[in-house]
Amino acid sequence: MLKQNVLTLLNDQVNHELYSAYLYLSMAAYFQDKNMNGFAHWMKAQSGEEQEHGLKFFEYIFDRGEKVTLQAITAPPADWANPLDLFEQVLRHEQKVTSLIHSIYAAAVKENDYPTQVMLHWFIDEQVEEEKNAAEIVEYIKMAGDAPGALMMLDRQLGARASD
Ligand code: MG
Repeated sequence: MLKQNVLTLLNDQVNHELYSAYLYLSMAAYFQDKNMNGFAHWMKAQSGEEQEHGLKFFEYIFDRGEKVTLQAITAPPADWANPLDLFEQVLRHEQKVTSLIHSIYAAAVKENDYPTQVMLHWFIDEQVEEEKNAAEIVEYIKMAGDAPGALMMLDRQLGARASD
């Protein structure tokens, strides 16, 4: 049995992860529309990972003998000023997700819920990676500046990401 407050936070996190999947799919659409297909590929892979994150929380809630209640997913933004503006939003979004996961962890510590703490260790590590990757791409885009050739090279590099 999960404590009600921990269950509510875990159930909400399913929604947050699926919103992330939707946000990154919207970003994929932004890039695909601009024929930046490497960036679009990266975003689609990222979107798929977020769906998997949502499913991890989904399965964990059932593993603990509770039931998931799905909620409406907010419509994501559809347009950004430029790729830098977009990736700065990715970084801010991942920082917000990190704080949400840390809040669940804090609640699990307060309730002496050891299994939830152990389950969240994977997500705490994952968020370090997510923030690092987003911050790196922000820096690459800044370095590319207004040189279209540099942005095209970055597009090719991001297009090489495994679809996992
Ligand atoms: Mg995630």
